[in-house]
Amino acid sequence: MLGSMMKRDLLISDLLVHAGKYHCDTRIVSRQTDGSITTTSWGEVSVDARRLASALERLGCAMGDRIATLAWNNARHLGIWFAVSGSGRVCHTLNPRLFPEQLIFIINDAGDRALFFDRTFMPLILAIRDRLRTVEHFIAMGPRDDEVTAAVPDALFFDELVGDGDAGYVWPTFAEDTPSSLCYTSGTTGSPKGVLFHHRSTMLHTFVIAQRDMVGMSARDIVLPVVPMFHANAWGVPYIAAMCGASLIMPGSGLDGDSLVDLIDDYGVTLALGVPTIWQMLLASAKARGSTLPSLERNVIGGAAAPPSMIEEFRDSFDCETLHGWGMTEISPVATLNQVKAGHGALLPDEMTLLRSGQGRPAFGVDMRLVDDDGNVLPHDGETQGALQVRGHWVVETYFGMASTALTDDGWFDTGDVATVDPDGYMVIRDRTKDIIKSGGEWISSVELEGIAMGHPGIAMAAVIGAAHTKWDERPVVVAVRAEGAEVTEAAVLAEFEGRIAKWQIPDAVIFTDEIPLSGTGKMLKNRLRERFGNALAGRGA
Ligand code: AMP
Repeated sequence: MLGSMMKRDLLISDLLVHAGKYHCDTRIVSRQTDGSITTTSWGEVSVDARRLASALERLGCAMGDRIATLAWNNARHLGIWFAVSGSGRVCHTLNPRLFPEQLIFIINDAGDRALFFDRTFMPLILAIRDRLRTVEHFIAMGPRDDEVTAAVPDALFFDELVGDGDAGYVWPTFAEDTPSSLCYTSGTTGSPKGVLFHHRSTMLHTFVIAQRDMVGMSARDIVLPVVPMFHANAWGVPYIAAMCGASLIMPGSGLDGDSLVDLIDDYGVTLALGVPTIWQMLLASAKARGSTLPSLERNVIGGAAAPPSMIEEFRDSFDCETLHGWGMTEISPVATLNQVKAGHGALLPDEMTLLRSGQGRPAFGVDMRLVDDDGNVLPHDGETQGALQVRGHWVVETYFGMASTALTDDGWFDTGDVATVDPDGYMVIRDRTKDIIKSGGEWISSVELEGIAMGHPGIAMAAVIGAAHTKWDERPVVVAVRAEGAEVTEAAVLAEFEGRIAKWQIPDAVIFTDEIPLSGTGKMLKNRLRERFGNALAGRGA
């Protein structure tokens, strides 16, 4: 033998061992449902997780068993994550915003053996528990509580399991391709599908997404993951925070603008992550209350397209650098993030805004390609658009419980997004395949039109859909919600498009509405808008 290096499997428990040993006192702050704040530390979370893992053993949960959580972001949820995955079980995060029917389907499909729930979700548990076929243990996340016991007589309590658990528990070692967590896709169409992450895929994602040209987290950061732990593992933030020893501020159920501004200002948050609708509310609240969010150095926006005006507003009014990222549950979820390269220092502000409005460059470990309808690979010239496909170390291969592969014949995953990629790798999402507007044989990007409409100060939110048209098949129509107190007209919104895009791409109409329906992870439900407004142009342009 010429020599060798140590071989250790990449296991999630090592993240917590590291954080507990070297960042023992670093704070984990949680906002509880009643608004009160509790503070713990990586040291305490690491002990609690070991105690809880030993308790799961005593309950008879085996390696590979799925253990579900129905919870907001808080320290107990964090402890459960590490206890479940670290001990070789599978942490299945449930989205409490789903309909009871969807939750029942997902829990039965996953075959969850135990279910942890925030006390606030007790009504939901009562509504679904009789139809759950596999759940043996219901565990309330808190101290013993008579009201819970009265409603769910056999309920167990997190604090008791931890209190009685064994702090001397030793994390087991096993192969790094052991499953660690399970997350179902949004399922806005069809039944939701489970994506089963492995220790190895999660660890590689964590190493890479922590890097400077990705979210660039450090032990000096105070991080607010607004993105819920049930939305694609909070984009991996809790793992990355443990690896880097960053402090976490967990917002609980308080995802409104005022609560988030308070958390940022009270705890000096340096980095926050969330979907565009969250930032919309946060910006409105910060402006109304006169906060400039002085501690916030950067924010990550993903999950849906960030309007360019939002990126500019963070830069110009809050001195905050926005990192626009793209990913999906099937990609663990981060694939690209928008960070500049050395040569971009000379860009003018408008050019910089344009560059940073896109979804950014791929992380090492994920490759991208564009293909046309016949599967031909298209050039990365920044102009040609095609179906975006990816492959890499943290991309799904087969969905949970499904025998057939989710990949193309030559091993790529089709994301369902349409994009352009430039020679430097900067990718721009043009649309979901099913949302793109086909007008007279040409494609129009609804994402681009939404970005322009939302740049109007009188508009709080805008979705652009293709409405049926007798001459052009489809024409773009803006469905918009006015900003509070604004009296903006259709003509004023349409004027916003003049000179910004080709004339034939300018929408035919603006429809004002009170609310745009959102999915459980904050995405605009355009299929519902199409059902409602898809015939808005009937009779026009014959
Ligand atoms: P999910 O798995 O629920 O996170 O959904 C993934 C989908 O969200 C992607 O396929 C995209 O269609 C969309 N998405 C995520 N990030 C962005 C972004 N920055 N811009 C536009 N769409 C995005």
